Amino acid sequence: MNLKHDILIIGAGLAGLRAAVECLGQADVAVVSKVFPTRSHSGAAQGGITAALGNEEEDRWEWHLFDTVKGSDYLGDQDAIEIMVRDAPRVIYELEHMGVPFSRTPEGKIAQRNFGGHTRDYGKRPVKRACHAADRTGRVALDTLYDQCLCHQVKFYSENYVLSLVFDRKKCSGVVAYDLPTGEIRLLQAKAVLLATGGCGRIYKTTSNGFASTGDGMSLAYQAGVPLEDMEFVQFHPTGLYPLGILVSEAARGEGGLLRNRLGERFMERYAPTVKDLAARDVVSRAILTEIRERRGIGGRDYVHLDLTHLGEEKIEERLWEIASFARIYLGIDPVYDPIPVQPTCHYLMGGIPTDVDGRVLGDEKSSPVPGLYAAGECACVSVHGANRLGCNSLLDLLVFGRRSGLAMKRDISKDEYPILSEESLSNVGSKVRGLLDQQGREKSDSIRKEMQAVMVQYGSVFRNDEGLKKGIEAIRFLKERYGEVRVSDHGKAFNYELVEAIELGHQLELSEVILLSALQRRESRGAHWREDFPRRADRYYLKHSLAFPTPKGPEIRYKPVKITKFQPEARVY
Ligand SMILES: Cc1cc2nc3c(=O)[nH]c(=O)nc-3n(C[C@H](O)[C@H](O)[C@H](O)COP(=O)(O)OP(=O)(O)OC[C@H]3O[C@@H](n4cnc5c(N)ncnc54)[C@H](O)[C@@H]3O)c2cc1C
Repeated sequence: MNLKHDILIIGAGLAGLRAAVECLGQADVAVVSKVFPTRSHSGAAQGGITAALGNEEEDRWEWHLFDTVKGSDYLGDQDAIEIMVRDAPRVIYELEHMGVPFSRTPEGKIAQRNFGGHTRDYGKRPVKRACHAADRTGRVALDTLYDQCLCHQVKFYSENYVLSLVFDRKKCSGVVAYDLPTGEIRLLQAKAVLLATGGCGRIYKTTSNGFASTGDGMSLAYQAGVPLEDMEFVQFHPTGLYPLGILVSEAARGEGGLLRNRLGERFMERYAPTVKDLAARDVVSRAILTEIRERRGIGGRDYVHLDLTHLGEEKIEERLWEIASFARIYLGIDPVYDPIPVQPTCHYLMGGIPTDVDGRVLGDEKSSPVPGLYAAGECACVSVHGANRLGCNSLLDLLVFGRRSGLAMKRDISKDEYPILSEESLSNVGSKVRGLLDQQGREKSDSIRKEMQAVMVQYGSVFRNDEGLKKGIEAIRFLKERYGEVRVSDHGKAFNYELVEAIELGHQLELSEVILLSALQRRESRGAHWREDFPRRADRYYLKHSLAFPTPKGPEIRYKPVKITKFQPEARVY
């Protein structure tokens, strides 16, 4: 059975739903999601969304722009960042009008809190810029947008797993999807397809990301010949719950939480004398791991303490309830009385599918658009986060560029007809799936996945070097060979998660190789990409975006310029 819609949105996180809302009433729009929509990872966002509202203290979009550019280690495209920060207050009021129950100041204004790297007066001191709904901001925003979609009868293909993009004479014209409840594989046709498939944190062993964050959309675009931009920039959040990696949001430090080593020292005073615990994430993660390397981890082990005990029970219960409950449930620790053990955890990918500021996917270093294909959210790279994202700038990115993608798709398809597609695309994917089911090899996806995750933690995390990256690439290439021997033992049609996980593993291996190779070729340290053998930023050679192109021999790295408008690169100190 073939189905047709004007616009197909792959992904029901905040980026996808915001794009869908923009198309309501003016185009026939459908959303495809491998998980039930409200289980999308956006629902896990705790801390908030940034906007220079100035509700708690003076703030300006120009300061937000400066902080984001500096946070990106000058790799973010400043034209795109300016669009985002200028649009931010509108985004917040729009969410409020849709029904998001933001926390309030005593006067009834939307409350704001501190977050790492957000300052006033161009870096002089921290500013309260993150609008939040306690520590459940993503949850309430996702539910609100889902509500909007339901009210307007947006068609949802829930628990549908997209297997492939379909192209007709170089124009993206739909997708092939596996309907998990029935096991049917079908073609969904469209005049425009938006990838809003989220991040890929699950390629690392220690991560704050949920099980669905396997990078499918990026890999699907890459398989279709689209390059991937700035993939070496993987963010490690400083405070993952030790040893699980579950996130303890920066909101905890925004509300006054302090990091301490085994001597009880506030060690961030040494690494970021001005903003201390509220420095950007890459800086804090490196500081924690340096403390651990220099044997100042708690009890000589590989974690430090996040101390909330001085905040008092009332503040913790009111503003950090979810974070406190995670510590209680998973570690049996009550943060009201005891410090929380934390270590850096893989959190966010700054790179992704290259797009223009309206979500159009760019197919080469000359920025030629790929007709019919759009991307938004964590799977995309506009690029507003450059080499390091500031906290609470992701939800803003999703909402600003999700909306702009919706607007662009509506405009771009106005004169388009549905392409007449061949059944060949469908049968090609069908035979790929059958091939995987029929494979008689001896390998299990689960063991390859575990090895991949360990390789990525060992060679591709916070500290990197030439030797380790080369070893990592070799190990991943070997795992890719073994992947060819994977056997799926469940041959059932409906809800065949063993099959889905095997397909996801293929995507993860592809992206692992791209990340390590992009990292190997950037011989400098910038933002989240820290090379022990090249510990300085080298603007002369590397103030440019990397683009990894697929070739039969593996990724080929080329580069394109960064857009600089207002702020020339400077030394980045906090
Ligand atoms: C624990 C945690 C807390 C965070 N807190 C904050 C915060 O406070 N503020 C902030 O700004 N950022 C925060 N972030 C980052 C932010 O939440 C994410 O970057 C963002 O939610 C990603 O949204 P998205 O719409 O791009 O994708 P997601 O919300 O991840 O949604 C991806 C969608 O794609 C679908 N999908 C994927 N692959 C397929 C496929 N093959 N077929 C069909 N569907 C598919 C999934 O089903 C899902 O619906 C946090 C991240 C984490 C992990």
